[in-house]
Amino acid sequence: MTVRWCVSHMLRKKLPLLQSFLLPVSRHVSHLARHQYDVIVVGGGHAGTEAGAAAARVGAETLLVTQKIHTIGALSCNPSLGGVGKGQLVKEVDALDGLCGRAGDWAGIHFSILNRRKGPAVWGPRAQLDRQRYREFIQSELLSTPRLTVLEGSVEELLITEPNPEEPGHHRVTGIRLANGSHSISARSVVLTTGTFLSGSLFVGQTTSPGGRIGDAPSSAGLSHMLREKLGLRIGRLRTGTPPRIVKDSVDLSLAKLHPPDSHPTPFSFLNSHTRCKPEEQLPCHLTFTTPGVERVVRESLHLNCHIQQDTKGPRYCPSIESRVLRFPGRNHQVWLEPEGVTSDLLYPQGLSMTMPPDMQLRLIREIPPMHRAEIHTPGYGVQYDFVCPTQLSPALQVKSTQGLFLAGQINGTTGYEEAAVQGLWAGVNAARWALSMPTVALSRTESYIGVLIDDLVSRGVTEPYRMFTSRAEFRTHLRPDNADLRLTLKGFEEVGCVSSLRHQETLRVRNSLQDALMALQTLTLSTANWRKKLPGIPISETKSTLMTGIDLLQYSDVTFEMLASAFPESLSPYVKFSQRLKIEAVYKPHCDLNKKEIERIQREENMSLPQDIDYFSLPVSLSQEVREILDRVRPSTLGAATRLEGITPAAVVNLLNYVRITEKNKETHRNQQPQKEREQELCANSASLPQ
Ligand code: FAD
Repeated sequence: MTVRWCVSHMLRKKLPLLQSFLLPVSRHVSHLARHQYDVIVVGGGHAGTEAGAAAARVGAETLLVTQKIHTIGALSCNPSLGGVGKGQLVKEVDALDGLCGRAGDWAGIHFSILNRRKGPAVWGPRAQLDRQRYREFIQSELLSTPRLTVLEGSVEELLITEPNPEEPGHHRVTGIRLANGSHSISARSVVLTTGTFLSGSLFVGQTTSPGGRIGDAPSSAGLSHMLREKLGLRIGRLRTGTPPRIVKDSVDLSLAKLHPPDSHPTPFSFLNSHTRCKPEEQLPCHLTFTTPGVERVVRESLHLNCHIQQDTKGPRYCPSIESRVLRFPGRNHQVWLEPEGVTSDLLYPQGLSMTMPPDMQLRLIREIPPMHRAEIHTPGYGVQYDFVCPTQLSPALQVKSTQGLFLAGQINGTTGYEEAAVQGLWAGVNAARWALSMPTVALSRTESYIGVLIDDLVSRGVTEPYRMFTSRAEFRTHLRPDNADLRLTLKGFEEVGCVSSLRHQETLRVRNSLQDALMALQTLTLSTANWRKKLPGIPISETKSTLMTGIDLLQYSDVTFEMLASAFPESLSPYVKFSQRLKIEAVYKPHCDLNKKEIERIQREENMSLPQDIDYFSLPVSLSQEVREILDRVRPSTLGAATRLEGITPAAVVNLLNYVRITEKNKETHRNQQPQKEREQELCANSASLPQ
């Protein structure tokens, strides 16, 4: 029996850390409390853990089945969380009461906000993590989640009903069957989160072996066969890779550039006012660069590197050193030397994913000055895996042709922990709602990065591993890391059911305080002369003689909320703890008001007709080639119809709306001028006929 260890859902109380891994329990699957669940989640990676926890929070009796309990929450590649675009996803998971933000605050050892040169909307909260602590936190949380049972085992097969004759091609999932045995467990819905494990193969040099990650077997072939053959799903293949892990003591970090963390670590979670790691306990990272010797080793080893010779698409934005060198020869590429944990003896060389033979890997790293005498602990390797083309999913992440089957994470063609986590959370929510006979729910592109990611996946699909960027979000000035709680927590509690009342209460308190503070700022309306008297030295031009509110003033880069609070302590000092949030709210207010108006305008203009003779390819407005092709192919008759087309972004709809409105206005002006012209011509003709 492959199932060795099952943790009862009775384990509700949070276990002391570590104790949870050391329970000497060895149980048979028949000891499971039940053989029927509302939801079964397959996989305990970043998608699976969020899915299991979210389904249970919504109220479903949930079973999470994963190959190895001790790898739950494992960081397969880099020990870090967040970053530009990805940090926004972590904040949104947290706003919906998910795990990864709090886990990041617990395990973070180097916190920094990336992209600070740009506006706060596109800042990227990021933390280097202690691998072990991260896993401990996630495992401890899962094992103490009410209504969630965790079971070690490998799922071999999905149980499905034959297609409904009234809906040909439509199956319904009814449960799972475990490998190496006949045990089946029923459920109303199943969430598959098999990551890089579906028909996974590992590559090092010329050696290929089956595996989903080093040390872990791939997902059983039966599952892949089932999805492809029985459910008729379109399956593709992608690849990724990871760098060798380096023995820390063998690296001369004095030859690399020190990269200290932020002096004040910013937590991911809205529930945390500080991180576990105190500023003085944070560990530094180091920056170094490749040399021409690195390029030489890459070229010399190409014929020994089967991963790199294959056509399968890898992550464009996290490429291997082989791809970097071949695409951009002659450059010195950045390599970050990052700690793997507080007590870890290893360094993670970010930027050096590689799949050449291990002896060549050693030669390569020793071409980089701080690593002249470095030792490799574990060689880098590549993995290729099957993914399901995500256009076959609904916005609830449910397979359109199989009722009750949901997919999340790398199985949908994404890359990265954060991308997996948001999908897991949302698939878990919907699987639970489906199982409990509640309507599924969707998030829009205008309210969240989660909505952007899911819409991109299900409407456009993927041709290479998908990762999040802020540029993918049309309304990014509104979708900021600082306001994810206001955007999502209230909805998560009131409409979705995945947020605890504790978090809901806290968010209400914050929202009310922010609203009160903004109101107080708005009512502080003074002439510019009076503002200058109150706050000598503020950068308002002396010639400006208009009235200004506190919000207007806060939009100036040199004005802080603290300055205003010191001038008006009675009305503003209660809100000083929200200084940064208020400053950001004020700065983005004009953009957000405009965005809001545009969204409302689109909703109002739903029935506006689109001329059928538009040449979409020559429209003088900003539309991507992809959008032009879709519009040209479908030729929607109204703006509303265009909005609902797969692949049409809200920004494209706004541009289309503006174009049609301006053209209509021009035509109208032309029409109005027409009778005038005709009258003038008539007058001319009449006067010409008059005697001179
Ligand atoms: P995973 O974290 O892979 O988890 C899948 C889980 O499913 C595992 O727990 C597994 O045991 C379980 N499972 C699988 N099949 C079954 C089954 N049949 N029954 C029961 N349990 C099952 N991301 C980046 O952003 N950048 C990178 O450079 C990068 N490099 C990577 C390199 C490697 C070698 C690997 C392995 C991953 C890399 N990743 C990278 C990807 C990152 O690890 C994933 O994006 C992320 O872990 C995906 O989360 P997930 O939950 O979808 O899947």
